[in-house]
Amino acid sequence: MWYNNILETIGNTPLVKLNKITKDVKATVLAKIETTNPGNSIKDRMALKMIEDAEKSGKLKPGGTIIEGTSGNTGMGLAMAAVIKGYKCIFTTTDKQSKEKVDALKAFGAEVIVCPTDVDPEDPRSYYSVSSRLEKEVPNSWKPNQYDNLSNSIAHYEQTGPEIWEQTEGKITHLVVGVGTGGTISGTGKFLREKNPDIKIWGIDTYGSVFKKYKETGVFDEKEIYSYITEGIGEDFLPKNVDFDLIDHFEKVTDKDAALMTRDITRKEGIFVGNSAGAALAGLLQMKDQLKEDDVVVIVFHDHGSRYMGKMFNDDWLRERGFLQEDRLTAKSILES
Ligand code: PMP
Repeated sequence: MWYNNILETIGNTPLVKLNKITKDVKATVLAKIETTNPGNSIKDRMALKMIEDAEKSGKLKPGGTIIEGTSGNTGMGLAMAAVIKGYKCIFTTTDKQSKEKVDALKAFGAEVIVCPTDVDPEDPRSYYSVSSRLEKEVPNSWKPNQYDNLSNSIAHYEQTGPEIWEQTEGKITHLVVGVGTGGTISGTGKFLREKNPDIKIWGIDTYGSVFKKYKETGVFDEKEIYSYITEGIGEDFLPKNVDFDLIDHFEKVTDKDAALMTRDITRKEGIFVGNSAGAALAGLLQMKDQLKEDDVVVIVFHDHGSRYMGKMFNDDWLRERGFLQEDRLTAKSILES
């Protein structure tokens, strides 16, 4: 049995019980491990769906160029699909993203333009503005706009939600997801809520992002916006894919807690995941007193740890930010002392 091309291997990712790292949590915690997608992240699902829907509606034409502002994972999914389907890709990203992510996009033949992080979205130098300008200037181009393109959440309504429902045999009581564009939480959550209206949906946010305050007060507060390190989640605007009515609660996690938890997941569970998985699990542990023994929590692990080798998995990087206070004893330090 074989697949006709790599895109057919997207989805049907495993659900794996967490054991040691969740030992103080009364509930069963199951992680949806999206690293096994061919582009090593959940974003393969929505990238393909956005392309297929644009092909159907005629927005994306044969030989066209896909232009998108992306933090890397969506770009990877788009670039992979573009290879198979014969499109060109130009991505704009920010100087905060891991070098590994940018290099991976280039590996698929995409052109990548790195833009400054600390400018307003409306600033002509921002990665949003640069991609919008290119869309106007490059002939036969199409901008998926993952933030407002509802094909993003629909991919998760059609795939991620049903997979989790089947894998837990309908026993899921809580869904915990880091929120960026909102596609994952909104699509997956909508499907699961239709199956069982009692399922709790918790979004994980970062300090420096507007989501939590907006959910709790209805106010878009610019004072909430400042730069942060955690990758993939939190925003400084309100994407159309975030369904605020569906989400019961947003929990904020610090950069430090997210970074250290990312490492812990690998060291304690043997699952090599990226920074937003650490943020999501740290957020869940902050909420653990609300969970009971019979609860079945599903937490989404969005991407692979290999994209963070120069960051969360690098001791010097952590130390420079004050995240790693205690130096561990190493064989070398013992021999030298
Ligand atoms: N984690 C990572 C690593 C991501 O790349 C993204 C996408 N920005 C998310 C979490 C959030 O997913 P979504 O955009 O579906 O809300």
